[in-house]
Amino acid sequence: MLVDSHCHIEGPEFDEDRLEVLARAEAAGIVRMLCIGTGDWKRRSMQEAIRLAEQSERVDTSVGVHPHDAGWYDNSVEAEVLRLVRHPKVVGWGEIGLDYHTLHADRETQLRVFQRQLALAYQWRLPVIVHSRKAGEDTLRLLTQARRLSNAGVMHCYGGGWEMARACLDLGFFISFAGNVTFKNATDLQEVARRVPADRLLVETDSPYLAPVPVRGRRNEPVYLRHVTRFLSELRREPCARLEQASAENYFLLFKSGREPEP
Ligand SMILES: [Zn+2]
Ligand SMILES: [Zn+2]
Repeated sequence: MLVDSHCHIEGPEFDEDRLEVLARAEAAGIVRMLCIGTGDWKRRSMQEAIRLAEQSERVDTSVGVHPHDAGWYDNSVEAEVLRLVRHPKVVGWGEIGLDYHTLHADRETQLRVFQRQLALAYQWRLPVIVHSRKAGEDTLRLLTQARRLSNAGVMHCYGGGWEMARACLDLGFFISFAGNVTFKNATDLQEVARRVPADRLLVETDSPYLAPVPVRGRRNEPVYLRHVTRFLSELRREPCARLEQASAENYFLLFKSGREPEP
């Protein structure tokens, strides 16, 4: 049993073969995929992700405005997110957060939009899916201000150090690892992945990005998640089946999205 806790398979990268991608995932034992809405208005990401979730019982979805798209955020965008969040297949709020690496929106805007959505997510009692890149300090500050200790959310595609990871764990967050943990130069990240407790660990592909070794550089897809779990099981000296089972149970606990569909 395996769950991909973060992917973007609603996007145009999968327009040619989306059904085959889902079939390959199913054949590989991936019982659930969380297809993330990002608030990318041109791509209608949230609407497309919901549409996909309606078509497949193995797909959950989320709504929220990504830090890259924070510049779009206004009252009408918020109204649309609040309309979509009522959909029964929406299990989380995100991805939201801060990205100081590319700065598609300026820091002030990102901070304002992140803070606003944290408040809304907590109002809706939804776990948050947090994207944080080169913004550890500010991310932690806002998460601490919005403190809510049970099932707070997930730090997706984790890329920070152990100190930050521990602070997130203390705030009730789960830590999710993606293909970048398999990269040769990711020794600091691997050290974090070795130390995160098994009951707080999630795995993801972030498809179509960040394909793991040995398919690095290709378009990523959920079926490649096994490369990540195999790598983590060796790193953590833990049977792969147990790690996969635990991370899947963590997913269902965090997102309360019920059990895997009947075979
Ligand atoms: Zn992200
Ligand atoms: Zn993402």
